[in-house]
Amino acid sequence: MTAAFLPYGRQSIDDSDVAEVVRVLRSDYLTTGPEIEAFEAELAQACGARHAVVVANGTAALHCAYAAAAVTAGHEVITTPLTFSATANMVVAMGATPVFADVRDDTLCLDPDRVAAAITPRTRAIAAVDYAGHPAEMDRLMGLAKEHDLLVIEDAAHSIGGRYKQRPVGSLAHLTTFSFHPVKTITTGEGGAVLTDDSRLAERARDFRNHGLVRDKQRLSRQEGSWYYEVQSLGFNYRLTAIQCALGRSQLKRLPAFVARRTVLVERYHRAFAAHPRLKLMTSAPGVEPAWHLFAIRVKVEDRSALFDRLIQRGIGAQVHYIAVNDLPLYRRLGYDPTSTPIAWQASRQLLSLPLFPGMSDADADRVIFEVQEALRDEG
Ligand SMILES: *Cc1c(COP(=O)(O)O)cnc(C)c1O
Repeated sequence: MTAAFLPYGRQSIDDSDVAEVVRVLRSDYLTTGPEIEAFEAELAQACGARHAVVVANGTAALHCAYAAAAVTAGHEVITTPLTFSATANMVVAMGATPVFADVRDDTLCLDPDRVAAAITPRTRAIAAVDYAGHPAEMDRLMGLAKEHDLLVIEDAAHSIGGRYKQRPVGSLAHLTTFSFHPVKTITTGEGGAVLTDDSRLAERARDFRNHGLVRDKQRLSRQEGSWYYEVQSLGFNYRLTAIQCALGRSQLKRLPAFVARRTVLVERYHRAFAAHPRLKLMTSAPGVEPAWHLFAIRVKVEDRSALFDRLIQRGIGAQVHYIAVNDLPLYRRLGYDPTSTPIAWQASRQLLSLPLFPGMSDADADRVIFEVQEALRDEG
């Protein structure tokens, strides 16, 4: 008998989630309306921010955040190569230039010293990524931003529910973005959000989400009938539906339990692998309470491919997070070179994510541990 395939990540949907979605399906509003405002208020509250703007996905959240930050042609945005391509792609979408700074070898988050060295008069923003759910060094990055008059955007697609020096992710940067894709910690199917304390940045993110369309009388350039609206800036339709917001509200209630279960599973993996001579594990910095999204191990560059294939063959859904963004053909063509960020480049060729999601049992985790240990033994 073969055990079921264990994916690297998967949503957890229970009856309470289903009931909330059904409730909204039977209501008057499938999009716009009270569910959106309720989800935004609850999300902002849970993450310690004044404003939350929910959007269609995490990529749209980044797009809205860069638009809110007025990132435009001629600007540079300093970011990490060890991320999903969307973090950099949306900088390119704004007509601006991503500048890749290297990461720290222990947390695989941006190294503030490398960021400092990359600042030029054209730098507009720093886009940090909380790799695997571990918050980046936000105090140092915010300090650099203050010193050089920049904005910090925290791509927190991995880290909702995490804390940094007692403060929740969502309250640390000028703008924070989330993704609610099913592999992420809470899901709305597709979905995302931008969080900020700054009402001007929130307004710009909201405008960008909805065609740049303004109805608020105080913001209109002339007064007409109450039907009157203006499109004042370029925007898109990045709205999240009410159906999705209902799911999001229900998932948000379950967030503490999701984070707790992920933490227990990570501890189990750590106990099993910590002393393994052929594995390097992620560590967390003092004062940081990660909300682990990934359990990423590092093996020798020459061992990874065989280990990956073997795990897949044995029903273990390993994944690679990530191919360095500056190694992707789009970025190679734009003249980037991954060897310019040697630590991220090395890590990107060593990393392998193992299954981690709240519905995993201890026995599932033990099966992963067994298969990894066996594979490394057999490979000699
Ligand atoms: C998932 C993810 C995104 C994109 O989110 P989508 O909801 O899939 O668009 C962006 N950045 C990081 C780091 C991610 O993990």
